[in-house]
Amino acid sequence: MTDNFDLEHIWHPYTSMTQPLPTFKVKRAYGAKIELDDGKTLIDGMSSWWCAIHGYNNPELNQAVTDQLQNMSHIMFGGLTHDPAIELGKILLKITPPSLDKIFYADSGSVAVEVALKMAVQFWAAQGQPQKTNFITTRSGYHGDTWNAMSVCDPVTGMHQIFGSSLPNRLFVAAPQTKFHEEWNPQDIAELEQAIQQNHEKLAALIIEPIVQGAGGMRFYHPEYLRQAKALCEKYHLLLIFDEIATGFGRTGKLFAWEHAQVEPDIMCLGKGLTGGYMTLSATLTTKHVAETISRGEAGVFMHGPTFMANPLACAVALRSTQLLIEQDWEANIKRIEQQLSQHLVPLNQLDYVADVRVLGAIGVVELTFNVDMKTLQQQFVDRGIWIRPFGKLVYVMPPYVITQQELSDLLEQLVEVVKTLQGAH
Ligand code: PMP
Repeated sequence: MTDNFDLEHIWHPYTSMTQPLPTFKVKRAYGAKIELDDGKTLIDGMSSWWCAIHGYNNPELNQAVTDQLQNMSHIMFGGLTHDPAIELGKILLKITPPSLDKIFYADSGSVAVEVALKMAVQFWAAQGQPQKTNFITTRSGYHGDTWNAMSVCDPVTGMHQIFGSSLPNRLFVAAPQTKFHEEWNPQDIAELEQAIQQNHEKLAALIIEPIVQGAGGMRFYHPEYLRQAKALCEKYHLLLIFDEIATGFGRTGKLFAWEHAQVEPDIMCLGKGLTGGYMTLSATLTTKHVAETISRGEAGVFMHGPTFMANPLACAVALRSTQLLIEQDWEANIKRIEQQLSQHLVPLNQLDYVADVRVLGAIGVVELTFNVDMKTLQQQFVDRGIWIRPFGKLVYVMPPYVITQQELSDLLEQLVEVVKTLQGAH
């Protein structure tokens, strides 16, 4: 039931203030369960937009926050430092590509992307190439809602039309077409190659979500695309930025998606699952070479420094969350989830209004041939005791890794039933 004050005064993501979609009030959440105010319990299929990897109310993560709270919740990062930032940094460098060596902590995924783009521009300026300021990317990407992050999101499904000429013009090429499990089609890289060849003098970097394009369409593409993209970046002097905000921390079956291709970027953005979904924190990692070049430039420093940079509470919980992940056999667990997702979802392929079913790691996607009515569908899911938030043609699940086999079966059985009822609804 939607709360009246909430309805009248509080903005929810991508929502009209005159015709708001209903919201469901949450009393508490634990494990893979969300308990609503009216006592109803939902099995969570979203991990709160893909970040609550260890589920909710995790005792170990709670403890990490409580312990840190006794020391300090926040302290400025200008001129001061602390163990949570240092220890988190050590573990991040151990689990990310070997060439990444320097860490910039920021507040959200979008800001991590802003930071990455700024690093690329300052990197070239520092080498006497101030004309290399633009970016190239693929369609169907999503990199966040702040100004420049938005400028590299898909120009059609993103927000380009609304913001028009106030957005900087980026260079777009077709999204990678060869699917993750298909045989590589060499033609797939041709457009990117041509665009880079023709425009490299103005380009600072290529930014891309490795392997899985998330909010831009939940597409899984072939690792060879990244290998060839990396070769092009090297040949034509572009930095390569991987946005691993959605793909990081085991979600695709590898700890980070770059591992599928064994391609190391110059800059990598982390967020979402970084804190196990406890609070907002992101990190932009780069190489010694990029960081040192920026530092040799005219400014002599990297020009960014948010108030809540490296917030100790967030760093402490991120450290514990990352330890918790790598201390367990997370790979076997993601395999278990992957198998269950396939087993339940693949049969939906037989329905004539299902365009595609795809599963990779702990991501399961059912793509329909028509746009869903989010309001009706969400209510149906809630009535059946599951939490799934579809968008566009996509009904997808990204459950918390702690979801039990039974919970996941229940979740998927209900999802399948709802998708089957869509027969004739379009
Ligand atoms: N990049 C990617 C790949 C994302 O999926 C998201 C969030 N969905 C972002 C950036 C933006 O992160 P945030 O919402 O924390 O700003």
